[in-house]
Amino acid sequence: MAAGLRLHLCPRLRAFADSSRPLFAPHFGALTLPLRRAGPAMPLAARARRSSTAAAPPAEDDDFATAADLRFEPPLEVVKYPDPILRARNKRINTFDDNLRALADEMFDVMYKTDGIGLSAPQVGVNVQLMVFNPAGVKGEGEEIVLVNPAVYKSAKRLLVFEEGCLSFPGIYANVVRPESVKIEAQDVTGAKIKVKLSGLPARVFQHEFDHLLGILFFDRMTMDVLETVREELKISQKIPKSACIPFPSQNISA
Ligand SMILES: [Zn+2]
Repeated sequence: MAAGLRLHLCPRLRAFADSSRPLFAPHFGALTLPLRRAGPAMPLAARARRSSTAAAPPAEDDDFATAADLRFEPPLEVVKYPDPILRARNKRINTFDDNLRALADEMFDVMYKTDGIGLSAPQVGVNVQLMVFNPAGVKGEGEEIVLVNPAVYKSAKRLLVFEEGCLSFPGIYANVVRPESVKIEAQDVTGAKIKVKLSGLPARVFQHEFDHLLGILFFDRMTMDVLETVREELKISQKIPKSACIPFPSQNISA
């Protein structure tokens, strides 16, 4: 969330972390990435997608980030709405080097300092497909997860309402509906492929950050009723589409 879901503003998130309430999948809290790496055991459908992609002509998404795109200067600061950086296209990454690792480390630092549990690269002014999160929200606790070039290839049909905040919208919290779980593919900070199902809080955090990588902000997904409760604070009145529901990036790998 380069925003991030903010723990102190989301008491229910704490409740999840501290108990085994059944709202989320029972194995919440046991997230260990990479749970599974895509390899020889990759499902046939995924392999088919890969091969068709390989045969296709270069798409716009194959315009990878350059060294200049990945340049940053610490200390990083969180970009606030309505900075157009939050709506800009985020380039895929194909250089897995010390600079990328340093960027991820800096993002974690900013995330912890601002009480976030997730952060996307565009939220610190770097328009690339990178996110970091740690559902524990505390350095030294939980698990630090870095995802590069993530893609959602399946979303649960079951939707959950949950209160979210976003570091790019300080002080604003509202309910957002999202699928309960998602199956994702991504790369880690070394470039190794990851394929995993996320549920519970990690699924919620991932989806919020993944939206940032698509230029989608959390108010884009609020219902009109919810939006009315924060419209004043957002100061965006007429710019919000009448239908605030954007389809979830679900059933196919688009990144
Ligand atoms: Zn956010």
